[in-house]
Amino acid sequence: MNIKPNNDKEVRKRLLAYYAIVLIVIFVLNWVVFPMIAYQKQVTSTYSDFLNALDDNKVVAVEIEDAQISYVVKEGERNLYFKTGVVDDPTLIEKLHEKDIPFGKAIPERPNIFLSFLMSYIFPIVLFMLMGRFLAKNFQKRMGGAGLNIGGQKVARVYKPEEGKKTFDDVAGQEEAKESLIEIIDFLKNPKKYEEIGAKCPKGVLLVGPPGTGKTLIAKAVAGEADVPFFAISGSEFVEMFVGRGAAKVRELFDQASKHAPCIVFIDEIDTIGKKRDGSMTSNDEREQTLNQLLTEMDGFESNKGVIILAATNRPEILDPALLRPGRFDRQVRMELPDLQGRIDILKVHLRGVKTDGNIDHHLIARMTAGVSGAEVANIVNEAALRAVRMNRDTVSTHDLEESIETVIAGQQKKNAILSDEEKRIVAYHEIGHALVAAKQKNAAPVQKITIIPRTSGALGYTMQVEEADTYLLTKEKLLQKIEVLCGGRAAEEVVFNQITTGASNDIERATQISRQMVTKYGMSERFNMMALETSQNRYLGGDSTLTCSSETSKLIDEEVLNIIKTSHENAKKSLEENIDKLHELSNYLLEKETITGDEFMQILNK
Ligand code: ADP
Ligand code: MG
Ligand code: ZN
Repeated sequence: MNIKPNNDKEVRKRLLAYYAIVLIVIFVLNWVVFPMIAYQKQVTSTYSDFLNALDDNKVVAVEIEDAQISYVVKEGERNLYFKTGVVDDPTLIEKLHEKDIPFGKAIPERPNIFLSFLMSYIFPIVLFMLMGRFLAKNFQKRMGGAGLNIGGQKVARVYKPEEGKKTFDDVAGQEEAKESLIEIIDFLKNPKKYEEIGAKCPKGVLLVGPPGTGKTLIAKAVAGEADVPFFAISGSEFVEMFVGRGAAKVRELFDQASKHAPCIVFIDEIDTIGKKRDGSMTSNDEREQTLNQLLTEMDGFESNKGVIILAATNRPEILDPALLRPGRFDRQVRMELPDLQGRIDILKVHLRGVKTDGNIDHHLIARMTAGVSGAEVANIVNEAALRAVRMNRDTVSTHDLEESIETVIAGQQKKNAILSDEEKRIVAYHEIGHALVAAKQKNAAPVQKITIIPRTSGALGYTMQVEEADTYLLTKEKLLQKIEVLCGGRAAEEVVFNQITTGASNDIERATQISRQMVTKYGMSERFNMMALETSQNRYLGGDSTLTCSSETSKLIDEEVLNIIKTSHENAKKSLEENIDKLHELSNYLLEKETITGDEFMQILNK
C-alpha cells in the first residue's frame, strides 16, 4: 500500500514538469495570441485630438470624470479607447448634445488593467494548479494509495476499504477480541448513543498476543467494519536517524487524525517505541522523545472526538507503564493461540479460497496442529494447495494438508538422501521405540504416523502423536510420559543394537527442557516443592527465562533434572525389553513400508 520513496520523487518530478508547461502556455497566450485578437488598451491622447475626433463624428461615447475624459472612437469596425485630460471647456457639453453622443457613465466597462491581469495570468495559473493537484492525487491513487505526508514522506498508510477489504468474517475465533472491538465500531458509528448516557469510549485499545494470532488482521477487519478512515503505521516507522523526527511524525499523525475524525489510528508493533523508559546507558533519546510525544498526544484529545487508537504488540510486559494507564491504552484485548475449535474455524476460513475435493477432515487437521498459530494454519493451507499443484491435481485433499503439516513442522521430504541399510534399520528401530513406549502407556496420545523418510530439516524419521483434544492442564504424570516417549528412541537402539547414535540429539534436548521446566517452573520436584526458580521474560515470544537462584541451588536443579531423565530412560528401556518381539516385528514392517499409519501400527501391535 506504500508508495516507495523513488515513486514519490517521480511524482514530484512530473508535477514540476507539468507546472513549467502550464506557465509557458500562459505566457504564449498573453504575449502572442491575445494581442492578435484585437485587444484594446486605453491610449492617452491630447484634448485637441479629442475635439478633432468629435468634429469628424468618429466619437461614439464619452465619459467625463473629475480628472480625465475617456472616449471611444469608431474606426471602421473597431472600437478604440482613448483618454485625455479635463480642460475647462463649457462648450463641450453643448457639442455632445448637439451631436447626440451619449456621455456620462455610458461607456461599457472597459477592460481594467488589474482585472485583465487577474484574468489572463492569475486565474489560469490557479486553475491549472488545481488541475495539477487533482491529477497528482489520481496518479498517486493509481500507484497504490494516498497517505499522510510529512516533508514529502509518508507518515501513515490509509487503508481504503475497497482494496482487499477485511471483515470480522475473515477472522476466525477470537470471539472475546471481536466483542471488545464491536463496541468501538459501534461508538464510531453512533457516538450519540454513548454521549447521551455519558459514557466515554476508550481512547486506546491494545491488542496483545503471540505472533501470528491475527492482531494485524483484526485491526484491518475493524477498519473494514467501521467504515471510517483508518491510518495504519508501524512502530518502527517512527524510529528515525535524527532525534526529534519521530516525535514530529507522531504530532503530524495525530494532527491529521483529528482532522479526519471519526477515524482509527493503528500502530502496529508498538513495543518498538513503547519500551519502558529506564536510566540505563543504552537508553535511546530518539525513542524516548517519540514515546513522550505519543503520551502527550494521547492526553491531548478528547475521546469523544472520535479518534480511537489501536495498537498491537507481542511483548506487553516491556511496554512503559505510562502507556497502559487509564486514559491511554486502558483496554487490552488478548489474542490467544487458537484452540481446537479455533483452528477448525481458521482452517475453514482459509479453505474458502482454495478448491478442495469436498472431503476435508477439518477435525483431524486441527488436532494435528495443536499449539499452532493462525498464521501457521494459513501457511499450511497454502502449502497444501502448492502440493496439489505439484501433483498435477486441481483440488486439495486432506492428505495434502497432512503432508503440508509435516512439511511445515519437519521440512520437505528429502527423497534422494542416501542412507545405508544399516542406518535405515537403526532409524526404524528408533522410531518404533518412540511409538511402542507411547503405545504401552496409559492414556497416552495415540500414534498418528511413523515415517523413516528423511526430511530437509535433518530429521531422519519421526513419530507423530496426536492428542484427541487440546489440553490446558498437564499433569506431572503426563509430562513424565512425554519424557519417557522421548527416551524411547535411544532406548530401542540400546536394547537392540547395544550401541548409541547421534540420532537422539533432538529427543535429548526436548526431554531435558521438559524436565527442567518441571523442576524450575511447575514445582514438580520433591526437593524444591513450590519454589519458583526461574522467571520467564516474554511469555508470548517463548524463550528466555532467567534463573533466580544461587549457584548452589542451580547445581541441585541439575541433579533433579538428571534424576527425572534417568528414571524415564530406565522405564523406557524396561518397556521395550518387555515387548521386544513387537519391537522387531514393527520395525521390520516399517523398514519395508517406510511410512505407516497409526492404525497399521495398532493392528500389528494388538495382533
Ligand atoms: P499478528 O499481527 O498477530 O502477528 P497477523 O494478523 O499478521 O498476525 O496474522 C497473519 C496471518 O495469519 C493473517 O494474515 C491470516 O491469514 C492468518 N490468521 C491469523 N489469525 C487468524 C484468524 N484468527 N483467522 C483467520 N486467519 C488468521
Ligand atoms: Mg502483526
Ligand atoms: Zn527420536
